[in-house]
Amino acid sequence: MINLHPDGANMNVWRHAFSRMGGEMVRFACRDMGMKCEYVVNGNNIQEIKQKAMKHAEEQHAEMLKAYDTPEKKVVMENALEHAIRML
Ligand SMILES: [Zn+2]
Repeated sequence: MINLHPDGANMNVWRHAFSRMGGEMVRFACRDMGMKCEYVVNGNNIQEIKQKAMKHAEEQHAEMLKAYDTPEKKVVMENALEHAIRML
C-alpha cells in the first residue's frame, strides 16, 4: 500500500536532512554578538549552544560580562545570544 499522507512524506525529507547534518543543527558565532572573536560552536539544540557560549564568554570575555551584573541585564544578554544563534 502506498502512503500518500503528506506529513509522512515531509517527515522522510526531514529525517534525511537531519542525518546528513550529523545531528548538528544550530551554530553560534561570537562575531554575531558584535565581538572581535573567531569563536564558533555547533550543537544539537539552543540550550546546549547557550551553555557552551556562556562558558566561552566567562572564560574569554569576563570583562564584557561584568557589564551584565543584574538579572534584568542578564536576560537582555541571553536574548541577544539567542538571536545570534543560527539554524543550520
Ligand atoms: Zn568570543
